[in-house]
Amino acid sequence: RNSLVWFRRDLRLDDHTALHHALRSSDRVYCAFVFDTDILAGLPRDDRRVQFIHASLQELDKRLREWGAYLIVRHGRAADEIVDLAAELEAESVFANHDYEPGAIARDREVQQRLREAGRSLQSFKDQVVFEKDEVLTLAGGPFSVFTPYKNAWLKRLAAHPEAIEAFETAPWAKSLAPAPAGHALPALEALGFVPHAAPIAPSGMSGALQLLDAFLQRIDDYRTARDFPALDSTSRLSVHLRFGTLSIRSLVRLLRERADNGKDGAATWLSELIWREFYMMILQRHPRVATQSFKAAFDKVRWEEGPEADAAFTAWCEGRTGYPLVDAAMAQLNESGFMHNRLRMVTASFLTKDLGISWLRGERYFAARLNDYELSSNNGGWQWAASTGCDAQPWFRIFNPVTQSKRFDPDGAFIRHWLPQLAGLEGPAIHAPWLAKPAVLERAGLVPGRDYPLPIVDHEQARERTLARFGALRE
Ligand code: FAD
Repeated sequence: RNSLVWFRRDLRLDDHTALHHALRSSDRVYCAFVFDTDILAGLPRDDRRVQFIHASLQELDKRLREWGAYLIVRHGRAADEIVDLAAELEAESVFANHDYEPGAIARDREVQQRLREAGRSLQSFKDQVVFEKDEVLTLAGGPFSVFTPYKNAWLKRLAAHPEAIEAFETAPWAKSLAPAPAGHALPALEALGFVPHAAPIAPSGMSGALQLLDAFLQRIDDYRTARDFPALDSTSRLSVHLRFGTLSIRSLVRLLRERADNGKDGAATWLSELIWREFYMMILQRHPRVATQSFKAAFDKVRWEEGPEADAAFTAWCEGRTGYPLVDAAMAQLNESGFMHNRLRMVTASFLTKDLGISWLRGERYFAARLNDYELSSNNGGWQWAASTGCDAQPWFRIFNPVTQSKRFDPDGAFIRHWLPQLAGLEGPAIHAPWLAKPAVLERAGLVPGRDYPLPIVDHEQARERTLARFGALRE
């Protein structure tokens, strides 16, 4: 009996649910990945994520070869390629792990239907999360819409079901893998129509994930206190790896449970972040409308700014030209590296929606195009949190002051100086608000506001009043 394992966002060999089940139930197992033209069509030729996937697949193939096996890589419409490949390989079943995004659900439904018509099956498994949408419920049996009680119920469920994080081993059954044909090689990035990005996401693949994890474990005890300061390298940077599944979420929770059980603050706080990830995945599945609309329907009536002035402000925000150094440094980090620190995602999202009065949907789409770790559920949840339109969101009358945030979370301006070198010469608090700097400070820094760095495109206090009115109007 032949089977095909379809890798999607689970680019690893260890602790892999679909691969485990395929190996245990089949005589011959093929492994495949499809570069989906439906997804690739919308991406720039030097998209970092495609390069990351490509590099991670090289490692996957290399590891499979160590087992005498190989990875089949196709380029085309995923549903067509998988259905054709299953027929070519005479695979009775295609094994995959659940993907919860609305587009992926539709794709998988099509594959399942077409395989069934051909007398084959699609078998899909929970792998990307510890608990799915129906596993963590309120006492009344419904979904949570507030994080803390969800988290408590999640932890309680894990205590009752420790098997939820047991590893799905693969190595013991590796002999069921189909042997590599002579001359097997993966297509080059260029053959897919892409070119390497000048600043790739490093490190990639399973080994990259472990490298980041090892480094993070050295500093995890400081995570709770250090995680909000973007100048400190205090978070794990594992988001892109969790996005593409180069390491298993179960393996992380296994590791953390021990540490958090020992009452370690850092590990408990980090585990909480992993639970946020599942919380937003649950919200997206339970309420697919959030992809394009507010979680709280009343907020669909917010009248966001539109027209040429709003468009110009949006462009300035995208390009990091708002005149607020922390916001602009954060956008520079995103534009230049594809990453943005969590605190700054909150600050920039708040700035776009509350200071510029522009719809969160526009910002969300910009982040989606730029973030290496782009995940529809977390991005949407984060944006709706900042815009106050989401579940368990920031109350609309609590508005971040971008200068106060800057003083609090980048107190000596180290992050700003790194990403905005034109401001590096500014001494003291002037780094947070150059337009307020004394002439002598500006002179010493050789900086002319308005010439070398933009003047603020909006006055925060006035913007705050407009936002309070914009949201306040909904109550009438
Ligand atoms: P760590 O601090 O090391 O956290 C560990 C892991 O927990 C992360 O890798 C991530 O998987 C998860 N996590 C952490 N914080 C959150 C959170 N608030 N919500 C959900 N999961 C979380 N995260 C994404 O993975 N993809 C996105 O597209 C995304 N967009 C965001 C947009 C906005 C406006 C906001 C406010 C947050 C967004 N986040 C997103 C959440 C968070 O900012 C990133 O997960 C985090 O910055 C990634 O860095 P890290 O891996 O070093 O995180």
